[in-house]
Amino acid sequence: MKKINSKLIILGSGPAGCTAAIYAARSGLNPIMINGSQPGGQLTITTDVENYPGFEDPVLGPDLMQNMIKQAENVGCQTYNEQISEINLEQYPYTLKNNNTTFITESIIIATGASAKWLGLKNEEKFRGHGVSACATCDAFFFKNKKVAVIGGGNTAVEEALFLTKFAKEVILIHRRDQLRAEKILQKRAFSNKKISFLWNSVVVDINGNENPKLVKSISIKSLKDNSSSLLDVDGIFVAIGHKPNTDLFINKLELDNEGYLKVNNQVFTNKKGVFAAGDVHDKNFRQAVTAAGFGCMAALEAEKFIESKK
Ligand code: NDP
Repeated sequence: MKKINSKLIILGSGPAGCTAAIYAARSGLNPIMINGSQPGGQLTITTDVENYPGFEDPVLGPDLMQNMIKQAENVGCQTYNEQISEINLEQYPYTLKNNNTTFITESIIIATGASAKWLGLKNEEKFRGHGVSACATCDAFFFKNKKVAVIGGGNTAVEEALFLTKFAKEVILIHRRDQLRAEKILQKRAFSNKKISFLWNSVVVDINGNENPKLVKSISIKSLKDNSSSLLDVDGIFVAIGHKPNTDLFINKLELDNEGYLKVNNQVFTNKKGVFAAGDVHDKNFRQAVTAAGFGCMAALEAEKFIESKK
């Protein structure tokens, strides 16, 4: 087992983690960033990002994140394409472990973000990767000239629907209410896109398909207006109903709220000294790349103060 000492460990490499890494490296803390299972985070599975300042034209999510990680490395942060499976916050200095390495550290910034939520239907898991997806950017290509449904009414659902129109011949957005939650500019684009139609006040209650080869054929829908049931033929279903924070590692170790988000005081302080949180792992309100980056900056500045105070 390798042992690595570092003043500061940053968990996660999305906008929050990378920004924390850039600030901490520039203040001479020689931080380590552990990139996690999805280096670059959620933006690596989006396409055009047009609301991150500094880019005259839209920038691709994966490119933006690759640049952020490189920027962190260029200013002196070491990055590890690894995951942590165990964390000990009872003894100081803190330790974080996986199968190969024990990291020993004075301070931790948790920027592990959030992951897509699923509907919890019987056949959802079975058809995942065979017509059921939570990432249009990853899978839209497989639905050329096909008919697909998108579930949800937020920004993600509308962005997924718009992206899918580049490939699919028909996109049906199914929402449980009769109004979208998505930003007006996205709504306008969706309403004016001829390939997109809307099924309001409706929920998916089952996913139906072939066993061999595994293929989605239709979805069973229930109307929330009159409780009527119907069957909609589709080749694919994209679930875009929000996210859940990636905090399993911290259960019973740090205070979490009832939805599993890390509880913080003064923006970035968790209930353990020297352990800070940044981005979607604690922020269920804004959840933007730019706000996550802001939290990353705050967490790094507070970590620096904390480490200084230990001297
Ligand atoms: P949201 O939480 O904003 O939206 C989730 C949607 O799914 C809601 O419309 C909700 O319905 C619906 N929903 C939730 N649970 C269920 C369920 N069990 N069955 C059916 N429908 C369900 O999540 P998003 O992922 O869309 O967005 C998350 C955050 O990320 C937001 O703050 C968003 O602004 C941001 N974002 C920003 C982007 C950008 O700026 N370009 C791109 C993508 C996301 P209801 O409305 O009834 O609650």
